[in-house]
Amino acid sequence: MNIFSFAKTELKNLFSTPATRAYPLEPRNYPERTRGHVVIDINTCVLCGMCSRKCPADAIKVDRAAGTWSIERFGCVQCGNCVVSCPKKCLSMGQAYTEPDAQKRTDTFTKPADQMKPPVAPAAKPAAAAAAKPQKPAESAAPAAEEKKNA
Ligand code: SF4
Ligand code: SF4
Repeated sequence: MNIFSFAKTELKNLFSTPATRAYPLEPRNYPERTRGHVVIDINTCVLCGMCSRKCPADAIKVDRAAGTWSIERFGCVQCGNCVVSCPKKCLSMGQAYTEPDAQKRTDTFTKPADQMKPPVAPAAKPAAAAAAKPQKPAESAAPAAEEKKNA
């Protein structure tokens, strides 16, 4: 590279816009399909736990009794598996990434109390149900047979 081509490049760069972005003054615009972080609509969630079972990073915890759904933000690898496996389609991928932090961060969402179903009583076991059923008296069939014989 001779001195003239160097000067040409220098002048061009002097009057052109910068190649880098003035972050954070100029916020980053993420591409439309960026998988930044998991977003939940807790009102639609039925706490079935499917997302938790499908998560390869074990980042989601669902507590049906407490009505909570939690995600460990730095454990999540943004694979999107939970989003596609949710039967209620209440998960989606937000574009922005989780901001760096010195501590691990768990976000917990609680289902509104008025949307929680009362716990269903466990069904009785067949053996217990049979024991609870009143037995037909054994002698009830015998008199009928005897009556037939006498007739
Ligand atoms: S799979 Fe969907 S509905 Fe089920 S617990 Fe997860 S977010 Fe809620
Ligand atoms: S995006 Fe992947 S790693 Fe993150 S919570 Fe969902 S399934 Fe787990």
